[in-house]
Amino acid sequence: MKKENIWESVLAQIKLDISEASFNTWFKHTNISTLKNKRAVISVPNTFVRDWLQSKYNKTILKALRSLNKDIKEVQYTVNPSIQQVETPNKKRKREEENNLNQMEFQNLIIDSETGLNPKYTFENFVIGPFNELAQAAGYAVSENPGSLYNPLFIYSKTGLGKTHLLQAIGNKARKRQKKKKVYYTQAQKFISEIISSIRNNRMEDFKRRYKDVDILIIDDIQFLSGKEKTQEEFFHTFNDLYEKNKQIILSSDRPPKSISALADRLKSRFEGGMIADIDYPDTETRAAIFKSKAQEKDFFIPDDVCYYIAENIQRNIRELEGVLNKLIIQQKITKLPIDLKNIKSILKDINQTSMYSLSFNKILKTISNFYDISEKDLLGSSRKKEIVKARQIIIYFLRKELNYSYPYIGKKIGGRDHTTVIYSFSKIEKDIKRNEDIKEEVSYIKETLASA
Ligand code: ADP
Ligand code: MG
Repeated sequence: MKKENIWESVLAQIKLDISEASFNTWFKHTNISTLKNKRAVISVPNTFVRDWLQSKYNKTILKALRSLNKDIKEVQYTVNPSIQQVETPNKKRKREEENNLNQMEFQNLIIDSETGLNPKYTFENFVIGPFNELAQAAGYAVSENPGSLYNPLFIYSKTGLGKTHLLQAIGNKARKRQKKKKVYYTQAQKFISEIISSIRNNRMEDFKRRYKDVDILIIDDIQFLSGKEKTQEEFFHTFNDLYEKNKQIILSSDRPPKSISALADRLKSRFEGGMIADIDYPDTETRAAIFKSKAQEKDFFIPDDVCYYIAENIQRNIRELEGVLNKLIIQQKITKLPIDLKNIKSILKDINQTSMYSLSFNKILKTISNFYDISEKDLLGSSRKKEIVKARQIIIYFLRKELNYSYPYIGKKIGGRDHTTVIYSFSKIEKDIKRNEDIKEEVSYIKETLASA
C-alpha cells in the first residue's frame, strides 16, 4: 500500500473513534511524510498538535498503522507549517482566530481533572529574576519538602506576574517527585461555589471527605474569600485539619493577608503564620529575557534588540508580554514583514489597534463560565439562582461594554431574553461596580483574563 493510502485509512479508523471537533483540531492537517526503516514520520502543522498527538494518540496511531503494515515499529512527528493550504488573508485571520480558540480549548483539555494541574506550568519554563527570586526559591523548596518547611506558603503579587504559574509548578513538581502525593489545585472562586453547592445540597460530608486526604492543597486568588463568611468558616476548618496533619497548604492573592478586607482575623493570622513571599514587577532586562524565552518556546525567532525594545515598551506584566508575542506571531504570518527594529514600531501600533479583534462572544462566555464555575448551559438557561443571575448579568455587561452589541442582540445571544432585561442588567452591573468592591474586583479580574487569553 502506498504511504498516502495508509495514512488515509489510519485517519478513517481514528475518525470513527473520536468526535468531529477533535478530529478537525488534531488530525485534519496531518500527513505521512516518510515511511522507512520501520518508522513512520507524521507531519503536523504545529507544535501543539505534535505534543498532543504524542501524548494522547501515539498508541492509537501506532496500532492503526500496524494493522495495515506490521513492519512499522515506531511513530515520529515533525512540524511542517506549510501543510495547510494557501489561504486568503481573511480566511487566514479567521483560522488563526479559531486556532487560538482551539489552543484555549487545548489548554483546558490538558488540565488534569483530578489534580487541577496543567502540565504546561513548570519550574523549567519559569524565568527567575530579582523580582520573583524569593517566591520561586520558597516554592521550589516546598515542592521538594511539602508540609515541613513553610506552611502555609503564601504568594502575592499584582495580576499577570506569575502566581498561578508558580503555584502550578509547585504542584507539578511535587507530583513528579512522588506520584502518590495527592495534590489538589483550585481557584478560590471554584472553592467558594463548591462550598455553596455542598451546603445547598446537604453534601458537606462529601466536601469534607474530598479535602481530608489531600497532601498538598493549592488555592489560587484567595482574595476572593473576602466577605464570604460561611466559606471562610469552612475553609478555616479545612485548613486546620490539613495543617495539623502536616499537609502542605499553598495560597496566592493579589495582596498580602493583612490587606485582604473582610477576612476573618483568625484566617489572617493563619496565613501569616507560614512564609509570605511577594512577586514584584520585573525590570526591563528580565522582561526582555522572558520575552525571548517565550518566543523560543514557540519556535519563533526575535532578535535581541527587538526583545529589548518590546520590554521597554510593554511595562505592565508578563501576561501582557505574552499577549503581544502571540499577536506578533499572527501579524508576522499575515504581513510577512521581517521582525526587526525598523518594523517593530508599526507592528506594535497595528497590534494595539487590533487588540480587541479576537475577543468574541464565545470567549466572554467561556471565561465567565470558568470564572464562576457555572456551566455555559446554565448561563444561557432559565435558572433564577442568585449566583447564576449575577454571572449572566456580568456577561451582558461585557457584551455591551467590550463588543458593543445592541441590547436586543445581546438578549438574543443569551437565551432569548427581552431587551429591557438586558438594559436593566447592564445598568445594574455598572452601578454595582461603583458601590460594591467585590463586583469591581471580579469584573476587573475577568477583564484582565479576557485581555490576555
Ligand atoms: P498571575 O496568576 O499572577 O495573574 P500567571 O501565573 O497567570 O499570573 O502569569 C501570566 C502569564 O505569564 C502566564 O502565561 C505565565 O506562564 C507567564 N509567566 C509569569 N511569570 C513567568 C516567569 N517568571 N517566567 C515565565 N513565564 C511567566
Ligand atoms: Mg493567576
